[in-house]
Amino acid sequence: MTTPQIYDVLIIGAGPAGLAAALYAGRSRLSALVIEKEKDGGQIVITAEIDNYPGSLEHETGPSLIDRMVAQARRFGAEKVYDAITEAHLEGDIKRLVGKKGEYLGRSVIIATGAHPRPIGCPGERELIGKGVSYCATCDGNFFEDMEIFVIGGGDTAVEEAVYLTKFGRKVTIVHRRDELRAVKSIQEKAMNNTKIHFLWDSVVSELHGDGVLEAMTVKNVKTGKETRIEADEEDGTFGVFVFVGFIPESQLFADQLLLRNGYIVTDEMMHTGIPGVFAAGDIREKSLRQVITAAADGAIAAMEASAYIDGLCLVNEPNPSMVVV
Ligand code: NAP
Repeated sequence: MTTPQIYDVLIIGAGPAGLAAALYAGRSRLSALVIEKEKDGGQIVITAEIDNYPGSLEHETGPSLIDRMVAQARRFGAEKVYDAITEAHLEGDIKRLVGKKGEYLGRSVIIATGAHPRPIGCPGERELIGKGVSYCATCDGNFFEDMEIFVIGGGDTAVEEAVYLTKFGRKVTIVHRRDELRAVKSIQEKAMNNTKIHFLWDSVVSELHGDGVLEAMTVKNVKTGKETRIEADEEDGTFGVFVFVGFIPESQLFADQLLLRNGYIVTDEMMHTGIPGVFAAGDIREKSLRQVITAAADGAIAAMEASAYIDGLCLVNEPNPSMVVV
């Protein structure tokens, strides 16, 4: 059996953080391997429009931005493999990651595993995924051409994607558990100025119904406790429910080795975790602003710190006691 190559840096995840790390690692002449479980891009591949990343094109979509990031990382020599990591051995000078397809060795590791959409968690939801229930407007919006659409959630994602979904649906209703949106004002304004958008305040979805396809949903008013059943229009036979109620960080694999807070990996501002040579970047990190721009910045810093660590120049080579799992 041949011994796997030892890379300078193993990067887990090919979203904006991982790809920026790959770019900066390549520019620092580090050998870098990006390990992606499924599809390049992370959450932004399911984002319809990116208009707050500096230099993004007019009507830039998540997939188009990510395509350019992937090409750029490749240009600087980063290698990529598609594999799901199932074991991470992070201590020691040589880190070892075990995937379903192989084993990977590296002098340092950058964790950029991001987060996945949080489900509502109500009865019927799981059974009706892809049959009316979706977590991706760009992927599934066109299935609801001229139909009714409900968007669950009141944050930036929900409101932005609701605006996008008005391209397809005849009416888009935002169902939010409070009577004011969490989304920032500029995004709220887009929704408020769109005549196709309606609001169902103080409401949560308590059940989704349908035999093979979504046909009805029960919505509960959290203030009065009253439950209302909303049926699909008879002619349509169905409607769309798009769920955007936040994200769950992909950190379970590291829970016994790295310090997590609310599921997010705790790092210092230079992306160091509690284990020397192990860094975290992007949405997986505990931080206040989760955006493409902050993910990319994290990735760049993590790669530069990995380079310093390998050269023995890292200012922080001792584990920070506040980040060590005890
Ligand atoms: P978020 O900010 O966490 O918002 C989640 C929304 O879902 C909130 O309105 C929350 O209600 C609601 N919610 C949570 N759990 C729920 C449940 N079980 N049932 C019903 N509703 C529930 O998530 P996000 O909107 O996906 O945004 C994530 C991050 O990405 C944020 O930092 C955001 O700023 C950023 N983002 C930025 C942009 C942009 O700048 N263009 C676009 C998208 C996302 P409450 O409000 O009552 O808590």
